[in-house]
Amino acid sequence: MAGNGECVSIGIDLGTTYSCVGVWLKQKERAEIIVNEQGNRTTPSYVAFTAAERLIGEGAKNQVATNPTNTIFDAKRLIGRRFNDELVQSDMKVWPFKVVAGQGDKPMIEVTYKDKQKQFAAEEISSMVLLKMREIAEAFLGSTVKDAVVTVPAYFNDSQRQATKDAGLIAGLNVMSILNEPTAAAIAYGLEKNAGSDIYKTVLIFDLGGGTFDVSLLTMKQGVFEVKATTGDTHLGGEDFDNRMVKYFVEEFKRRQKKNIEGSPKALRRLRTACERAKRYLSLTTETSIEIDCLFEGIDFSTTVTRARFENMNMDLFKKCMELVEKCLTDANVSKSSIHDVVLVGGSARIPKVQQMLQDLFNGKELCKRINPDEAVAYGAAVRAAILGGNATKQIQDLVLLDVTPLSLGTSVEDGVMSVLVPRNTSIPTKKEQTFTTTQDNQTSILIDVYQGERTRVSDNHFLGEFHFANIPPAPARSPTINVCFEIDANGILHVSAEDRATRQTGGITITNENARLSKVEIDRMLQEAVKYRAEDEELKKKTEAKNALEVYVYKLKDAILDQNITTKLSLAQKRETEDAIEEAIQWLDCSRFSEVLEFEEKQHYLENIWNPIITKIYK
Ligand code: ADP
Ligand code: MG
Repeated sequence: MAGNGECVSIGIDLGTTYSCVGVWLKQKERAEIIVNEQGNRTTPSYVAFTAAERLIGEGAKNQVATNPTNTIFDAKRLIGRRFNDELVQSDMKVWPFKVVAGQGDKPMIEVTYKDKQKQFAAEEISSMVLLKMREIAEAFLGSTVKDAVVTVPAYFNDSQRQATKDAGLIAGLNVMSILNEPTAAAIAYGLEKNAGSDIYKTVLIFDLGGGTFDVSLLTMKQGVFEVKATTGDTHLGGEDFDNRMVKYFVEEFKRRQKKNIEGSPKALRRLRTACERAKRYLSLTTETSIEIDCLFEGIDFSTTVTRARFENMNMDLFKKCMELVEKCLTDANVSKSSIHDVVLVGGSARIPKVQQMLQDLFNGKELCKRINPDEAVAYGAAVRAAILGGNATKQIQDLVLLDVTPLSLGTSVEDGVMSVLVPRNTSIPTKKEQTFTTTQDNQTSILIDVYQGERTRVSDNHFLGEFHFANIPPAPARSPTINVCFEIDANGILHVSAEDRATRQTGGITITNENARLSKVEIDRMLQEAVKYRAEDEELKKKTEAKNALEVYVYKLKDAILDQNITTKLSLAQKRETEDAIEEAIQWLDCSRFSEVLEFEEKQHYLENIWNPIITKIYK
């Protein structure tokens, strides 16, 4: 598969804390989750900026302790939202990085990059994560990747979906489709085998990730997946379990050493990293150890933790998850017994206690865990990408996947009442039309405003955008006929248009998120910058390689000079010349942070020019 140069489309699970990429392997008739450069199957959704470089993924997360204000995560919590959004305001309080209000109340992330202050939109940060996922896939496939399916939570509104698509665009990707995460997970679990069948199935998707918990009820019939209900908690997940562990060990350190490490962000960060690792082990074993050298004031920390202890620390959080599952069932008015499958999604759904509690809740029903929970969404996205990219095999080609609108869409009529054009759960793509008219004599324009939501009054729903339809020929009230059309494409993106029946004049908009969405000009600029940043990253990589090559060479020479077999054959002058050159190179390397590739290469040539004639003579 790899290296055949074929153009393949990929599926990306763009997660709040971790992202994952998959591709459908035609020959193997299955999707492959692609490992990153560290050999990991999921990659932290982190981007960091330093004086010298930009880091994405593992590299970014690894240096968070030393560079907290310029290490960005959680961009997904910001995407498609306004600065004044309640959730943004509360998240900001705990983020170590700075978020400011930009144009049109758009939240902008402020960092220092290469000693300059820079602002990035959430779309740009997400685009960098998408770029990383694309590069991981390209390294595996040995070819360029252009097309991708990107997943989003089912509750994401139009603005958030649109912004996710824009992030793809900035990463140089053609986002073929935006897919709901629970739908993707459902596909992954092989539920597609029932596509086309008339059996109506109800599936519960339990997604416990790093920062969020989402429960969705999905129904399937004839290949149509409908998200019937979603509930959850925007602040419940793996990071909370890590926090509980950190708190526990801070107390233990206090007890044992009579010292409080809470004043040291670095010590806390190191402890958190160790806790996350221990937590993962505890999903496999019943006891694990934590060893941290010089955690605080030179004191080492060494301890053990059992699975039972971990479960005890987090029991109230686990219980909360179960309560939310019950709530989802009640909201949708569905009984436990009518659930056909319970599907586990999200890294934290690997925790054995969580699985056991969920199984108990469903009276011992076997849970679906054929695929790693933290890979299910990317797996489903890869299947979808193969279908859309024309790369599907027989097994999946008949899978007709239809998504649905998560919320109703409509416009306001008299007295601010919402007139619904597209009811919620309508399969998409879809096109719905309705006629409207004027309310006053000689009225020459009407305002078409677009809302999303289930409430009767538009003021209680989510405002998406508006446009004036003008140039209506003067006429008595209620006589013109204006045909309004709501069209949703396969990505769930809404285009609204209007037409005057008499004059055939048309007008319309693509919903652009109350100005908070990026304009075409902005996207183009970000796209150019993304290309520039990528080139800079490449340059830095080349520099690091050149520096590394020089270092390897210098130390090889140093070894040679110490080798008795060689050194006894050298004249004193030759030995001194080589030693001086080595010493000088080592000193130069120490302060070569900003040197160019060419300089490293020149330095290496210089050393080679000294050493090669000497060594050739010895072995002549
Ligand atoms: P996201 O919320 O970004 O979609 P994931 O679904 O990948 O993220 O979940 C990430 C979370 O899962 C992290 O908090 C991570 O520590 C946790 N996690 C990953 N593997 C395990 C495991 N084996 N046991 C417990 N928790 C895990
Ligand atoms: Mg996820």
